[in-house]
Amino acid sequence: MFSTGKSGVHVPHNKNTAGSPAVHMPAPEAVILPTSMHIGKPANPVVKLKDHVNVGTLVAESTGPVSSPIYSSISGDVTKIDTILTAGGTFVPAIFIKSDGLMTVDENIAPPVVNDYASFIDAVRKSGIVGLGGAGFPTAVKLDVKDTSRIQELIINAAECEPYITSDTRTMLDDAADVKEGVELFEKYLDIKKVIIGIESNKPEAIRKMKEVFADDKAVTVMSLPGLYPQGAEKVIIRNTTGKTVPAGKLPIDVGSVVCNVTTMAAIARYIRTGMPLLEKCVTVDGTAVKEPKNVIVPIGTSVKDVISFCGVNEEDIYKILFGGPMMGLSTPDPTAPVLKNTNAITVMGLKEASQPNATQCIHCGKCATHCPMNLTTFAIARAFERDDVEELARLRVDLCVECGCCSFICPAKRPLVEINKLSKTMVRAFKAKEAGKA
Ligand code: SF4
Ligand code: SF4
Repeated sequence: MFSTGKSGVHVPHNKNTAGSPAVHMPAPEAVILPTSMHIGKPANPVVKLKDHVNVGTLVAESTGPVSSPIYSSISGDVTKIDTILTAGGTFVPAIFIKSDGLMTVDENIAPPVVNDYASFIDAVRKSGIVGLGGAGFPTAVKLDVKDTSRIQELIINAAECEPYITSDTRTMLDDAADVKEGVELFEKYLDIKKVIIGIESNKPEAIRKMKEVFADDKAVTVMSLPGLYPQGAEKVIIRNTTGKTVPAGKLPIDVGSVVCNVTTMAAIARYIRTGMPLLEKCVTVDGTAVKEPKNVIVPIGTSVKDVISFCGVNEEDIYKILFGGPMMGLSTPDPTAPVLKNTNAITVMGLKEASQPNATQCIHCGKCATHCPMNLTTFAIARAFERDDVEELARLRVDLCVECGCCSFICPAKRPLVEINKLSKTMVRAFKAKEAGKA
């Protein structure tokens, strides 16, 4: 019952920036580097007030197996270490750095020594690379499967199904050699024999480019997938490329799959080649308030305000700013919030796009359940939520909701179903923690 369904929705693609190469914006005057830009434990600052840092200097070390180090993306001085509120609604310590305008590279930057599986995983861990498609899960943890014979295939996630976002598309077109190098590293050190690159059919140039680049690698198949949202959700892309279903509560490796975002692959290749850790991100800036939509390469920690100004946005036209696309993006009220490691888009909405329609009564059409990629009975979850019935919410497995927003998008009554699901998940977590405390 709780396997990933064959559903999803057709959303307007609006890939306005797919045809233009990404551009570098001038280095910012300052950056803010939160110690949590990944899933897992926040990193621990290793710099103090007034310290001078260079490009690539370690500023916060990882604090456990599921954590990720953070490096300075500019050269300059540490001006503050203070708590900030993230778009995800949590408070985390952050390191504030004022630029010296020089972008001097740290003298310790050197390619890592990699000669086997263990040293490859260690290098990926030190690179600070996390899932760059938006997930933010430390990549080394995902690749550290211990026994590589468990891996039946590597799936490269290049679906990029959210409206507007084209940063992965530009990686495939602009950095195809890095993607190829990344695949070769995985083949060598993770002993990968089969690689599937999953790309939605609405990106014909990217499909063509990947087929051209991998023409001589018989292990690689470039697969065209239907342009359906959320094609890029991990369990959905596994099912649609291999036919395998990841059971509830299990991981991709439990069915023999490792899934890695295409931009993450390219970033790993660059780190192994140069030793330069993850310091910058390609961000799609689009939305109805943006005059010149672009893919912009920015130092991590640059403020949203600086990035959107570079794309010609007037402050009076802004009604909503999202980290991410319109389906899963998180709204931020603070334009000084920094670009994070997993920020792949900034969507800036004008009045009409930002307006929420009025919700009406459920008409029991069932569309929310039919289109849910996780086969959840979304209308029943909403009813249980309204009754405050947390045990029923747990029974309905609301914890499996991936918050893709298909249900809200398709609902003719415009009910805020994804918001209800997010709150329901929190209620179930609290309930289970309380029950565990009693035991
Ligand atoms: S937000 Fe959750 S319940 Fe709604 S369609 Fe996506 S996975 Fe299903
Ligand atoms: S899609 Fe909306 S109206 Fe239809 S059953 Fe679901 S909640 Fe009710």
